[in-house]
Amino acid sequence: MKGFVVTGPAQASFTEIEKPVPKPGQALIKLEYAAICGGDPGHIMRNAYGASPEEPRVYGHEYVGTVIEINNPDHLPTRIKEGDLVVGPQNKPCGVCDQCMEGRFSICSSMFGSIRRPGGTFGEYFERDLDKLFPVSGEVDPLVATLAEPLAVAVYDVRKSGIGLGDTALIIGGGAVGILIGILARHNGASRIIYSEVSENRIELLKSMGFEAYNSMKEDIMKIVRDTTKNGMSFVYEVSGSQPGWDLAFDAVSPHGRLIPVGLPNPNRNIRFGDIARKEIDMICVNMHHLNDFHEAVELINRRTINDELKKIVTAIWPLNRIGEAIEESKNKTGKNIKILLKPGSEEIISLV
Ligand SMILES: [Zn+2]
Ligand SMILES: [Zn+2]
Repeated sequence: MKGFVVTGPAQASFTEIEKPVPKPGQALIKLEYAAICGGDPGHIMRNAYGASPEEPRVYGHEYVGTVIEINNPDHLPTRIKEGDLVVGPQNKPCGVCDQCMEGRFSICSSMFGSIRRPGGTFGEYFERDLDKLFPVSGEVDPLVATLAEPLAVAVYDVRKSGIGLGDTALIIGGGAVGILIGILARHNGASRIIYSEVSENRIELLKSMGFEAYNSMKEDIMKIVRDTTKNGMSFVYEVSGSQPGWDLAFDAVSPHGRLIPVGLPNPNRNIRFGDIARKEIDMICVNMHHLNDFHEAVELINRRTINDELKKIVTAIWPLNRIGEAIEESKNKTGKNIKILLKPGSEEIISLV
């Protein structure tokens, strides 16, 4: 089989590798589509999973695939059978550390590094534990199912922040996760959602989805917030991870409001602790998602109530063997692409926008 193999920092190639063999309690999955996550280029640059020439690793974690083999000698109860279309989370919480024992799987002590990472999804086949697989309904478009993992992240962000009926939200950053948070917040009854973005292409997409969206390089978003709200926005999701994003978040959040850092953490950001105390801001912190969030994301996808909105996020399908170029393309945050999918065996780039 072929896969995108990493052997060190920024050392990656699409090459022939051994097909994985599922261990007892695992299934072998044939990739239908993988998706490039915003964090993937950085993970590959830094070699976040600690690959080496002796222990090469396939990267990637967002996927939809077909179960082609199940190794279940202990007859574990499983919802999965051969031929099923499935999705699943990227992590394997250890289940035995203090955090896992308290049910806080999203911050499992041994989650980071290579040990708790199953085989990556930028390859034609990979293995997964049976208890980390969720079946996708036959009526669901597989393109939409590929969004299950980032949707699970958005489910956790929205659930933990507690946004609901009549609330207002500012979402700073309109990439895939930012858009998914907006879709779910609106689904939960938020009365007004404003986006701050820097890409005209993304602003256009957000507007076509019925959101209020502004270019923070051209418009004074704080003036809009001041002129149209009493005290600011009750929920602010900072998804950009940028310093201007953080500054806007602290300006725009209302007293007693909730600020949710979603963007990749950067230790060099200036966080205004004075504002946190002065406005009594609640910081709601989130790291990836829990297994029940993934379950909820798959339920949402299988019920198909928001799938038309979700599908707008998928903007291109590239051949898996051109993954290196596709990852380069995904770094362009001002172009038309939001989510790039990869398809094994395909020859052409399909643009959906
Ligand atoms: Zn992801
Ligand atoms: Zn753990």
